[in-house]
Amino acid sequence: MPVGIFHPPRSAFLRIPRAGLRRPFHVRNLSDTANSRGTSSSRAPTVFAFTVLGGLTAAYFFWPSTSRSAPTLQDRQIAPSHFTPTTVTASEACGPNLKLITLNIPPESLPSSVLSPIWSIFVKDDDIQVERPYTPLEGIDANGDVRFWVKQYPRGEVGRWLHSKSVGDTVEIRGPIQTFPLQEGRWDEVVMISGGTGFSPFYQLLFTQLLQSETSNNSTHYTLIHSSPSVAELPPTSLLQPLLDMAEQQPDRFKLHLFVDKLNDISSQNPSLAPRVGRINKSALEDAMQLREKTSWWQWLSRLRSYNRAEVIPTKKSILVLVCGPEPMVSALAGPYGRNLSQGAVGGALGELGFKSGQVWKL
Ligand SMILES: Cc1cc2nc3c(=O)[nH]c(=O)nc-3n(C[C@H](O)[C@H](O)[C@H](O)COP(=O)(O)OP(=O)(O)OC[C@H]3O[C@@H](n4cnc5c(N)ncnc54)[C@H](O)[C@@H]3O)c2cc1C
Repeated sequence: MPVGIFHPPRSAFLRIPRAGLRRPFHVRNLSDTANSRGTSSSRAPTVFAFTVLGGLTAAYFFWPSTSRSAPTLQDRQIAPSHFTPTTVTASEACGPNLKLITLNIPPESLPSSVLSPIWSIFVKDDDIQVERPYTPLEGIDANGDVRFWVKQYPRGEVGRWLHSKSVGDTVEIRGPIQTFPLQEGRWDEVVMISGGTGFSPFYQLLFTQLLQSETSNNSTHYTLIHSSPSVAELPPTSLLQPLLDMAEQQPDRFKLHLFVDKLNDISSQNPSLAPRVGRINKSALEDAMQLREKTSWWQWLSRLRSYNRAEVIPTKKSILVLVCGPEPMVSALAGPYGRNLSQGAVGGALGELGFKSGQVWKL
């Protein structure tokens, strides 16, 4: 049966470039600027690349959908152009309205290669024929297993449908789809800011770049700043613990900062989590990104006279900030999305800190 796209509401946290349905993005301009970092003129190609990416993203939502007529095909490699039946092999509650769900792709449908992070796949709700994108946490393993951290919303469609599935049930998927084409080695520092299940795309990136290949010679430093409403709604321990260990063992490669809105379930708290209570805000970003300079009193006085916040961002480092979460959070930290679901200007806390287009991407 044909599938009608019910586009996620603006509160859905990621925008998928439509072009990703046909081929992965290859944004050459991002790497072309790698040798001339830090000046506003050197940022121009990156801004251009981000603008193109933004345009394609907006186009995704306004061009007619090929998925409406996407058939279900067995015995074929998974692809964006058709659905593939998979089997639920695990469904484990891991917090209020949260589950870790594993789907198994049959051997004959396994792809010969996968996209580089960050990518997602569409899951089809067979009852009402709608689809939503979800992010494979660790990609596809050798057995064809794909694991997702899925939240169900009280009146949401596909999340609730997925939560109702039991081991042995069939779930149809379509993809992979490139969500953001991160170029390895392009950035000195990649800062990821997530809220709720907005964690999943960043876990996929960190799993691929750090956890899976600890010996990678990629010198990029990663920082994850994550927020959940409560401790019980933080990502499950099986996902968080490897990141906590990595942050402790290799602080020169990875830093992790956890936030919760409230701390009312302290008894169930893993002491190693030590989340900060409160929302991620400008001050938290300054701390996590180490943007506060150590200054002498006379430097501080002279800065008061000619205060320029943008100077706080280290100009010798190339920093990319990725933001993924509920729309109010994205808006407060990076400014609202633009018209037609484009990126919009960089605003919010990151704008106040001096970040510009080409340095910030709202997923
Ligand atoms: C690239 C990408 C990757 C993603 N990866 C993940 C992931 O790994 N894990 C994950 O959990 N999510 C992920 N998402 C979000 C996911 O795709 C869905 O948007 C999300 O699960 C909600 O879909 P739903 O069908 O359950 O809810 P929807 O039916 O889309 O509803 C969403 C919200 O709207 C409200 N709503 C629904 N109907 C109405 C109505 N009539 N009036 C008012 N409010 C209403 C619901 O209560 C709910 O709050 C991803 C999104 C993208 C774009």
